[in-house]
Amino acid sequence: MTDVPEITLNDGHTIPQFGLGVWQAKPEECVDAVAHALKVGYRHIDTAAIYGNEEQVGQAIAESGVPREEVFLTTKLWNDRHRDAPAALEESLARLGVDHVDLYLIHWPVPSQDAYVDAWRSLIELRDAGKATSIGVSNFNEDHLLRVIEETGVVPAVNQIESHPTFQRFDLRQINQAHGIQTEVWSPLGRGEDLENDTVLEIAESVGKTPAQVILRWHIQRGVIVFPKSVTPARIEENFDIWDFELTEGQMKQMIKLNRKNRLGPDPRIFGA
Ligand code: NDP
Repeated sequence: MTDVPEITLNDGHTIPQFGLGVWQAKPEECVDAVAHALKVGYRHIDTAAIYGNEEQVGQAIAESGVPREEVFLTTKLWNDRHRDAPAALEESLARLGVDHVDLYLIHWPVPSQDAYVDAWRSLIELRDAGKATSIGVSNFNEDHLLRVIEETGVVPAVNQIESHPTFQRFDLRQINQAHGIQTEVWSPLGRGEDLENDTVLEIAESVGKTPAQVILRWHIQRGVIVFPKSVTPARIEENFDIWDFELTEGQMKQMIKLNRKNRLGPDPRIFGA
């Protein structure tokens, strides 16, 4: 079995640096995708209440024969449940068929609703009750992070943000780092868009790997936590086959130069308003 690197969170728990994302994996595709990933060696699955596939993720894990404690499972609190997090997590746990998740995240801050600090207080209680081993946030900017830290004294273990070669997020990553928060990246392949990039294609050719493998290897080497989404068995295998090569310092620098403001998802300052 391949040794996926583990990253230690600020609460002392560890997380596999690589996993499978299941946003937009339809329920009917999701069981097979997660089952295949677990067979290939993935041990980290990233889902969310809003993805509508928690039940299928739980089913695939239960049927896989892989012990529950060997799978790192993340789910997220949706925007309309900020004031109702304990019940929302209970519902997620029931759908997943587990008694705890390894990581529970506030999916978006939704500043207009001004309830994310309340949600964070609930997540702290849920962690203390053992329903979530670690807790964190997603799509939080600096001001949102500072508020939860200042008002509760508890620093999120991770901040899951959009980041890919054409939208790298140096500033927010630095802010996360300054607080001891690990950065998880979503849309790591730019939803497929960044796979067409000339520099990525050129590096792929020179190292004898695919564009997706080059981008995923770059994420691993820059130290972020990454979980590409695929429901295609061959791609699930391809994305996991990144442990036998390394990008040189020069290639890492070439990748850095691809950065521009190519945001693909919503802006957290206004999303959910
Ligand atoms: P990705 O960057 O992971 O891209 C997924 C797309 O790329 C799919 O269309 C997939 O197709 C395709 N793909 C995957 N592997 C390959 C490959 N090797 N070659 C060619 N195409 C490939 O985008 P996501 O937006 O899905 O992000 C990943 C995960 O991040 C999500 O699944 C979710 O878990 C999380 N996320 C979190 C968000 C948040 O707000 N916190 C927001 C968005 C995502 P196919 O499946 O058909 O193979």
